[in-house]
Amino acid sequence: MNRRNFLNQAKLLTITTLSSSIAAPILMADVKIITPNDSIGQTLNDEHSDIFLPGEYQKALKSLRYKLKMVQRHVGYGNFNILSFDDMLFIGRNYSKIGKFTKLELEFIESIFYYDPRVHGFYGDRITYSLTDKIYKKALYKVPRTGHYLYKGKTLEAYNHMKKDIGDSIILTSGVRSVVKQLKLFVDKLYSKKANLSLTSRSIAPPAFTYHAIGDFDIGKKGFGYANFTSRFALTDEFREMKKLKYIDMRYTVNNKDGVRYEPWHIKII
Ligand SMILES: [Zn+2]
Repeated sequence: MNRRNFLNQAKLLTITTLSSSIAAPILMADVKIITPNDSIGQTLNDEHSDIFLPGEYQKALKSLRYKLKMVQRHVGYGNFNILSFDDMLFIGRNYSKIGKFTKLELEFIESIFYYDPRVHGFYGDRITYSLTDKIYKKALYKVPRTGHYLYKGKTLEAYNHMKKDIGDSIILTSGVRSVVKQLKLFVDKLYSKKANLSLTSRSIAPPAFTYHAIGDFDIGKKGFGYANFTSRFALTDEFREMKKLKYIDMRYTVNNKDGVRYEPWHIKII
């Protein structure tokens, strides 16, 4: 796909007004809504027709990845989990070691936020509608020794309930994520997958499409490390116990409708 088509797709779901710091030069002309049943959608599900990031954005990928890493280093891991887009821009602008986000980087961020990822086989729901949405700390509880936050209320209650039912061998491995945090995870994965969008979105939702923004969280077994994010987690006693609980469910089951890999560790609250 050439860049122009990608940008047209990117504009499909533009619903809110963008912050004035971002240029929005893309016209709505030629926009085509693609549904999962379209022949295009079918074709793109085929692994031989993977969609890649347009060449121009590939140039921005490396510098953006570096800047996001530096911003995370600057604010700290915990704070970065809930950092807003405007705060990210502010930090870039004000710390010369990081530097202002470039026009191309911002255009890429805008596109990857507002586009329709069905074009490369991701069929999950849009969760966040504005790039500049903020997460308010007051609504959150920082879970000790994890660097992660959970929403107070139903989510936190479910987590505490799980600890009681399963025991202290479970640990929160990811909680609330802001747009910026999800952007970083997506960009890192996209970089490691050599700009292959189809492959990337099978293991990480695009920035506006994560349920981590509204209450889902990831659970692991203490000391299990990276294996917590592989299907090996499904072999643990902790997972077996989790399956019995009536107040939670698995978001991404085998062959889920969203086009996401099997994620036994990703919890949805019922
Ligand atoms: Zn997750």
